Amino acid sequence: MADEVAAAAAGGVENLVIVGSGPAGYTAAIYAARANLRPIVITGFQDGGIPGGQLMTTTHVENFPGFPDGILGPDLMDRLKAQAVRWGTRLVEADADSLDLSQRPFRIQADGETITAHAVILATGASANRLGLPSEERFWNAGISACAICDGATPQFRNEELAVVGGGDSACEEAVYLTKYGSRVHLIVRSGQLRASKAMADRVLANPSITVHWNRRIRDCSGSDWLEAIELVDAEGNSAETIPVRGLFYAIGHTPNTRLVREQLDVDSHGYLITKPGRPETSLEGVFAAGDVADAEWRQGITAAGSGCQAALAAERWLTHHNLAVTVSHDPVDPQEVGEAKPTATSDEANYDPNALWQKGAYALRKLYHDSDKPLLVVYTSPTCGPCHVLKPQLKRVLDELGGRAQGVEIDIEADQEIAQQAGVSGTPTVQLFFQKELKQQFRGVKQRSEFKAAIEQLLGAAVS
Ligand SMILES: Cc1cc2nc3c(=O)[nH]c(=O)nc-3n(C[C@H](O)[C@H](O)[C@H](O)COP(=O)(O)OP(=O)(O)OC[C@H]3O[C@@H](n4cnc5c(N)ncnc54)[C@H](O)[C@@H]3O)c2cc1C
Repeated sequence: MADEVAAAAAGGVENLVIVGSGPAGYTAAIYAARANLRPIVITGFQDGGIPGGQLMTTTHVENFPGFPDGILGPDLMDRLKAQAVRWGTRLVEADADSLDLSQRPFRIQADGETITAHAVILATGASANRLGLPSEERFWNAGISACAICDGATPQFRNEELAVVGGGDSACEEAVYLTKYGSRVHLIVRSGQLRASKAMADRVLANPSITVHWNRRIRDCSGSDWLEAIELVDAEGNSAETIPVRGLFYAIGHTPNTRLVREQLDVDSHGYLITKPGRPETSLEGVFAAGDVADAEWRQGITAAGSGCQAALAAERWLTHHNLAVTVSHDPVDPQEVGEAKPTATSDEANYDPNALWQKGAYALRKLYHDSDKPLLVVYTSPTCGPCHVLKPQLKRVLDELGGRAQGVEIDIEADQEIAQQAGVSGTPTVQLFFQKELKQQFRGVKQRSEFKAAIEQLLGAAVS
C-alpha cells in the first residue's frame, strides 16, 4: 500500500477532492482548507441534487446550532460555501461524471477535465425518490413537483386543491407550507400513522386546511394540459377515491447518490456507503464518506456537517501519514472577511439604470422590454427557491462574460404575481430569453451556463448576419 501511494505522489496531483456541496461537503472543505490542503469541491450541478444540497430546497432551518431564530436553508448553505472559499477551497461547479478508484492517484472526471487526487471525500448526499406513476412524465412540471418549497408559489397552484404524498418530516413540512397557497392540502399517507417528528405531526394534524388520507396510495393521475386529479387506492389496492387537485408534491424519501462508486466500494442493500463503524473510512484506503450518502439513520444538516469534519480530519491524517500532503500557506495568514451579501434593490424610476447588467422587478422589466435592443434574460424566482439561488449567480456570470451585450432582470413571482401569470410561469426558476420584444426561448429549472450563453450568442450572431 505505502509503495502504491508513494508512487502516486507526483506533481499535479491534488491532495483532496470532495465530491458534493451539501453541509457535509462544505464542512469537510472548511476543515481541509484550514489545514492548508487547498481542497477542490466538485459541487454537483444536476446529478443527485444541486449545489448546496438538500437544504437548498427548504425554507427555515430551525435546528442548526448557532442560529437561535432559524435561518433559511439557502442562506445557511451560502454561508458554509463562503467560509470554505474564504480559506482557499477551489470549486468546480459541475457534476462528477466518473470516479476511477482502481488506480492511485484516483481519477475524477468533471466539467470535461480529469482531476487526479490522493484522497477523496464522497459527500454526494441523497436524491428525492419518484413514485413512477404511469402518467408521471406527462404531468412532471405540469402539476407534479418534487419540491413544494421551490414550486408552491407558482400561480397555477394558488387557491387550488393540492396534494402531498408521504408521511415523514418533509411531507409534513411541505403540506404545512402549501397551505399558504392552496385552498386545501391533501396529505396522502400509505400507512395509518405519520413517521414525522412529534412536533411536525402535531402541526399537520392541528391544521384545518390539511386533510390526511390514511392508508392510501396513488394509482395514477389525470388531466389535460395540467394535472386535474389523482386516483387513490386503499391498502388492498382497491379503488378508493379520486381527488381533484392541481398540484401533487412528492416527499417520499431519498436514495443515496452512490451510482458512480457502487461497483468500487462496499455499499449496503439500499446503496448507502459502508464505513468503519463510527468512522468516515470507506472500504478503500484514502476514500472517505460524509453525510447522508453513508447515513440511512440520522440524515440531518448538523450530523452531515459533523461527519464532514470527521472525514476531513481523517483525510488529513491519512495524507500526512503517507507523506502525501502538499500544503500551502496563506498570505495574509487570515484571509479577508466575507461580510454580508447585499441583495439587489428593486428598480424604480429613481434607481433604474438602462445599462445595468442585472436589475430586479416589474419596472425594470417593462423598461428594458420596450427600450433595450439587447437580448434580455428574465429569471422568475420565488424567495424560498433554492435552485433559483443556484441559478442567479450563473446567469450573472453569463452576462458578465458577454460584456454588456445582453441584460438580465429578476422577477420575484410573489411580489409580481400578475407578471408571472401573464408570462405563463409554472414553476421556479424559469428563464425567458427575449429579443426585439419577442420570446425566443424558455428554460425551466437549473441549466448549465453554457446553454444560456449559446442561446444569447446565437441571437447576437443572427442579428449581425
Ligand atoms: C425538504 C427538506 C428539509 C430539511 N430540513 C432540515 C432541517 O430543518 N434541519 C436539518 O438538520 N436537516 C434538514 N434536512 C436534511 C438535510 O438537508 C440533509 O440531512 C443534509 O442536507 C445532508 O447533507 P449532505 O451534505 O450529506 O448531502 P446533500 O445535502 O444531499 O448534498 C449532496 C451534494 O452532493 C452533490 N452531488 C450529488 N451527486 C453528485 C455528483 N455526481 N457530482 C458532484 N456532486 C454531486 C449534490 O449536488 C449536493 O450538492 C432537510 C431535508 C429536506 C429534503
